[in-house]
Amino acid sequence: MTISLKSARPGTPVLLGIPFDANSSWLRGAAGAPPIIRVAFGSASSNPTTETGVDLSEEGAYCDAGDLKFTFESPFPAIESKIGELLDHNLRPVCLGGDHSITLPIICAFGERIPGLTIIHFDAHPDLYDELEGNRLSHACPFARIMEKGAAKRLIQVGIRTMTAHQREQAKKFGVEVIEMRHLPALDRMKVDGPVYISFDMDALDPAFAPGISHREPGGMSVREAIAHIHAINGRVAGADIVEFNPAQDNTQLTAMVAAKLLKEILGKMIGG
Ligand code: MN
Ligand code: MN
Repeated sequence: MTISLKSARPGTPVLLGIPFDANSSWLRGAAGAPPIIRVAFGSASSNPTTETGVDLSEEGAYCDAGDLKFTFESPFPAIESKIGELLDHNLRPVCLGGDHSITLPIICAFGERIPGLTIIHFDAHPDLYDELEGNRLSHACPFARIMEKGAAKRLIQVGIRTMTAHQREQAKKFGVEVIEMRHLPALDRMKVDGPVYISFDMDALDPAFAPGISHREPGGMSVREAIAHIHAINGRVAGADIVEFNPAQDNTQLTAMVAAKLLKEILGKMIGG
């Protein structure tokens, strides 16, 4: 059950919607995701207990900072500043995107405050382009920028199935640990030391399970495989994001429920360990 930010205990997960998709290279729509994930998450069609037995209806289990309002001319300083504020209150941000470019300012805020971070990044795409169509802040580039800045200690990518020669070079240059889709499962590779950040791009899943995305890349993870890998993470989860859900492409509203299910299990992992 959600409580006010002020009365939250240290370490409480805090939801933050980031309705931003202007760095999406193909389709817009992900900016509309946060309120729709919240509705699916609160739906009475399912109960609030995670598979691991964490009851999210318990008083103070998590809190909700609402959706970020963009008052800055440039959105990234607004994101970085808000995440910094939540971290300074000892809360653990769980961000609902938005396109994947938002992970850059989120991790910039983490980098200063939470050293030694390992990012576990679920995606069909490595998002390691140096630039895409002249945009270095594209949703195809965030992990190149993060690794250039040294904002994370390790980057482990899971579910990748669109590796180009350029991105393979980038991965090598930055020491990225890429676990390609064709090599899954990799449950033992989810065991890391130190704080962990989970960045979950919904297109890591096979579009049969989650069609409401901008880049449908067949041959992806089942929901079950994704949850098994999330459950297998054993570091302390300091924060997370769920990005690239595009409600405009979600004709059956199935993807909203899948995003809400992943949110539940990520919260359960954060609370229950
Ligand atoms: Mn991505
Ligand atoms: Mn992707």
